[in-house]
Order: sequence, then C-alpha cells, then structure tokens
Amino acid sequence: PGDMPRHADLMERARRVIPGGMYGHQSTARLPASFPQFFSRAEGARMWDADGREFIDYMCGYGPNLFGYGFAKVEAAVDAQRALGDSMTGPGPVMVELAEAMVATVAHADWAMFCKNGTDATSMALLVARAHRGRRKIVLARDTYHGAAAWSTPRPGGVLPEDRAHLIYCRYNDPQSLEDAVREAGDDLAGICVTPFRHETFRHQHLPELEFARLARELCDRHDALLILDEVRAGFRLARDCSWHDLGVEPDLSCWGKAIANGHPLSALLGSERAREAAQKPYLTGSFWFSAVPMAAAVATLKEIRESDYLERTIRTGTALRDGLQQQAASHGFSLRQTGPVQMPQILFEEDDDFRLGYAWVEGALKRGIYLHPFHNMFICAALTEADVRETLEKTDLAFADLRRDAPGLQGPPPQIAATVAAMAGDRR
Ligand code: PMP
Repeated sequence: PGDMPRHADLMERARRVIPGGMYGHQSTARLPASFPQFFSRAEGARMWDADGREFIDYMCGYGPNLFGYGFAKVEAAVDAQRALGDSMTGPGPVMVELAEAMVATVAHADWAMFCKNGTDATSMALLVARAHRGRRKIVLARDTYHGAAAWSTPRPGGVLPEDRAHLIYCRYNDPQSLEDAVREAGDDLAGICVTPFRHETFRHQHLPELEFARLARELCDRHDALLILDEVRAGFRLARDCSWHDLGVEPDLSCWGKAIANGHPLSALLGSERAREAAQKPYLTGSFWFSAVPMAAAVATLKEIRESDYLERTIRTGTALRDGLQQQAASHGFSLRQTGPVQMPQILFEEDDDFRLGYAWVEGALKRGIYLHPFHNMFICAALTEADVRETLEKTDLAFADLRRDAPGLQGPPPQIAATVAAMAGDRR
C-alpha cells in the first residue's frame, strides 16, 4: 500500500496469512529487529533483501549454498533436466547415476535412498535402525538438533512423551555417558545417532574426540546395532566423504541434506551392506522424493565436490576471516571465541553470557552489508573471495568501533532471547 517500503509491507501481509508471520529456523523473530525476513535475490556469496539492500551472506541459506547461489555448472544441469522432465510417474535415469555417484564418493556407503529434507533422512535412519533387529532404543546426544519431527523437534508443542519413549540421551564427547546410555538400552539397542561434531545454537562448537567416535562404533558392533552419522549440516563441508572418515570411524547409516544439491531440494540416506536388508523393511516414500531435477543438481554438485578445490578454498577464506576477526576484536578491547571448523564458524563473545554484545555487533555489521548470525553457526561458501573477506573485515571493524562506544549502555539480554538465555543459565560450553 502506497509508499510503504516493500519489506515492511510483506511483514504486515505475512502476519495476516502465515502463523506468527513466519515459522521455523528462517523466522527472524529471535534475531535483532533490523534483520530482514524476506530476500528477493541471491547470487554467488551475496543476497539482496526485499528492499534491495545487498549483503555478503555468511549463512548460505542455513547450509544449502556450498558453491555459491546460482552456481553455473549446477544450474546448467538443472535446466537440462527440467527441459526433459521432473516429477514424473517414475524417477529418471539420473536417480541411478546419483546413487552410483554417492556410493563412489562416500566410503562407507553401498547404497543410497533419496528424500527431500534432513528430517526425512534422520527419521528414515531411525526406522531402518529399528527395523534392523526389531529393537526400540536409540541413543542420541542431548540438545543435538536432528530435525523437526515429533521425535526430534526442539519445541514441546504437540509432542507426546510417547514420541520419545525409546530415546536415551548421552552427552556429546563423553564416553562414560555414552556407555551408560547403551547399558540402559540393554538388549533393546537399535542404534546410536550423532552429528559429526557438536554444533548447537547459542553454544560453542566442539570437534569430536577420537575416543568418543571410536567407542560409538565399538558399542554398535558389540550390540549388533547401527551407527548413524547425521551429516545434514556438516556434510561435504569438512571432507569429500563422511566427516569421520579421516578419524577412521565409519557409520552404518549416514544422513545428508542441505548442501548435496547446492540449494536444490534433496536429501539422502546412505548405508552400508550391513543395513541394506533393514532399509527394505519400512515403507519410505514421498510425492517429490523421486523428482529428477534436484537429482541432476546433486550429480553436478558431487562432480564439483570431487574435482574442484572448493574445500581448500573455503578453509583458506574461513581462516582469513577467523584470523582477521580475532585480531580486530582484540584491537577494540573485545575477546571473541570462534569455534568449530573455520568453514562452519560459530562466533560468540567471551564474557557475553546474555548475548548483548553479540547482538549489537551483528547489527552493526548488518547495517553495513554483512549478514552474520548471533547464535547459530555460519557457513562459508566457495564463491566467497579473499576480496569479500577483506570487505567484510573493513565493515566489521566499524561494527567493533560502534560496539566499543555503545557497550556501556547496552542493557541485559536482547528481549527476544531473554527466555533462552535464562534457560541456559550462562552455560555456553
Ligand atoms: N540434522 C541436522 C544436524 C541439521 O542441522 C538439520 C537442519 N538444520 C536437520 C537434521 C534437519 O534438516 P531439515 O531442516 O532439512 O529437515
């Protein structure tokens, strides 16, 4: 209406026709008020909001953008397949080609099944693990995100205790608590399901300890249960294989999503020979699971994963960003704790248990065209250049200067996360 800015207009209209104005992980309700909800365009490492403001994007769509938005080699494969057919009465030949490519790329995998979202893949993994020997108990790490199904969603609405009756929680990287959880499962252990590293919101990230990873493998072997690695967020960002391949620990099942088709809707469950029979027991399907276009995107994505230096480049730019920010923060009298792999950075301030510094700093960066996240891990895509990092650091330097000036006046936790901060009670381990 009239001269109302386009973005504000969209927010207003969304409030009327979308519950809460927006839902799920892309809702901006818990971000600083200046963060845009709607984006009209994205290209490479940049995106433009509905008012046309340009940002260097460090979220990569919360993971799917691996090579850059609109990456030409993937989009060419998409266009070619779209001209032939997409959601047909049966899958295209590309499904077999993709399954072969996944099996050839991921060492533990002897077979592949495709679905749409990460939640599909993790939920299928639990069904397959339970079908394997007809057992019920699944051991998971407490507070790990595995999706938004009744067994996994982090919010209580609509969830019954029965939905989680056979889940047993341990602490990530704590071998004793993993052993205790497995003991509690007794002879009813179906599987252990973990992420390749600890990447929770509002917390520092932790790489996996070798002893923990090896123990998970050993316990599954000892009890004839299946080890499930949830690679949905980290897949192909740490390795051109499972993220634990270099640790020498291979899962029986691995769950993939987000980046595997560089932004096109596809996820996958991969499995080893040992789990092949179990994978045929549950009825697993969806109207769009067999669509050919996202599979063509994934074939092109896997080719680029195998043949390009994308991983080395994201590590290089991620390292430049981390080093630059660390030095810059110190020069302004702040101390940052940057955790996890450089290509999936979590950036939190030390001595900022209520997130007031972090929230103010990302707002300062945002208004200068740098999109950072105050409590979720970020992602570096291969389209981000060293010049983009230099531009980012110029802007974050100004954001630190603003923060130095404004810090004394910042009061308490940002109201939109006050309840979360209170529930965490300063625990950011
Ligand atoms: N597992 C992990 C580790 C994830 O990070 C996510 C998504 N953030 C999921 C599962 C669920 O994926 P999706 O949102 O595509 O259902």
